[in-house]
Amino acid sequence: MTYDWLIVGAGFTGATVARRLAEDAGQRVLVIDRRDHLAGNAFDEVDEHGVLVHRYGPHAFHTNSERIWRFLSRFTDWHPYEHRVRAEIEGQLVPVPFNFDALDACFGADAPRLERALRAAYPDQVHVPILKMLEHADADVRRVARYAFDHVFDGYTHKQWALPPHDLDPSVTARVPVRLSRDDRYFLDTYQATPKDGFTALFRRMLDHPSIDVRLGCALGDLGTDDRWRRMLYTGPVDAYFDYAEGPLPYRSLRFEPIYQDGPTVQPVAQVNFPNAHAYTRITEFRHMTGQTDAPGTTRFVEYPIAHTPGETEPYYPIPRPENRAHLERYARLVAQEAPHVLFAGRLADYQYYNMDQAVGRALALFDKEIAGG
Ligand code: FAD
Ligand code: UDP
Repeated sequence: MTYDWLIVGAGFTGATVARRLAEDAGQRVLVIDRRDHLAGNAFDEVDEHGVLVHRYGPHAFHTNSERIWRFLSRFTDWHPYEHRVRAEIEGQLVPVPFNFDALDACFGADAPRLERALRAAYPDQVHVPILKMLEHADADVRRVARYAFDHVFDGYTHKQWALPPHDLDPSVTARVPVRLSRDDRYFLDTYQATPKDGFTALFRRMLDHPSIDVRLGCALGDLGTDDRWRRMLYTGPVDAYFDYAEGPLPYRSLRFEPIYQDGPTVQPVAQVNFPNAHAYTRITEFRHMTGQTDAPGTTRFVEYPIAHTPGETEPYYPIPRPENRAHLERYARLVAQEAPHVLFAGRLADYQYYNMDQAVGRALALFDKEIAGG
């Protein structure tokens, strides 16, 4: 069969571009994925207990982009859901991002004075990255920062990345800033929700188009000479595409341990973080996120960060830091020299710590600028 486009990877990046190619450019598209399912790392499924779980870790959708929200809303109805997280700190469950309620819980009688100091230091800000707050001139502000750094960020970051916070791009810890209010939502984005029938159903609808063929359990190297295509978008790991010619790019991986219990939910919120105790970073209880009401019990995933070995573990997280950017540059040169006609995009191909909406945004822009406009 001859196609206009081959899309490698059926995650958010690949599926978004495939849909637009078929719908807006009248192209015939083959989408392949080496896994036996759609949706990439956003894949969800009903487990053996009847609970809808996210196989590759908890996914909460959030975006400020009306365009991305509208695009995805064509393929799903939504269950309104705002993610909330607590961290276990010195025997208490306190809000993360660390906010004024966390201040009350951790500093008792000193909290009102410290809250005033924070408000005075940052009169116009809703939040501050922890690494910035640590450098503030005011001693009370630094005291709060030091506490949050020691109790929320340092241990968690060591576990998650096997690196201290200062050895990562500041953007990593800035994802979860100190919040200068009592708002305990994890994200402040305008649009926050989970797909009503799950992420996988959303993907099924997005790829349900007469000009799109999907082949699962099919890696790029499995395609034979029967299939031809004029152009290719590759959304897998960029180092794997070149057979690791410049050495494997560093990733962090994860191991999930499911725990099932009959009856209602057991955590106060979807996610409880354990910055300092245990080898795991967080426990997620999916029913809070999905709003599922017809399950006999509740499944939680205990999440252990682990080292990544290509071919053995999943490359879940690119590791944002300067030396890895330099490493990525070497692959960018290979792309230019050896694969100038292949498009590379997505969390793995760009080696960028994208959220789902950023993957969709990247894909929509790629179509507009480099495909439709190119
Ligand atoms: P992927 O989803 O990784 O899809 C790439 C696909 O390519 C994969 O399915 C892979 O099997 C396939 N592939 C790779 N190589 C080949 C090959 N050679 N041949 C065929 N197929 C191949 N984002 C949020 O917005 N909110 C969250 O709460 C959130 N939580 C997350 C939690 C975890 C643990 C992780 C790891 C990520 C989370 N994300 C979250 C990020 C989200 O998963 C990504 O932004 C999104 O999945 C990226 O989509 P993608 O299509 O670029 O990549
Ligand atoms: N982080 C932390 N403590 C927390 C939550 C987050 O130190 O309780 C830091 C940690 O470095 C983490 C990063 O902030 O990797 C980003 O957290 P986020 O929840 O965005 O990570 P993800 O959901 O992508 O795993």
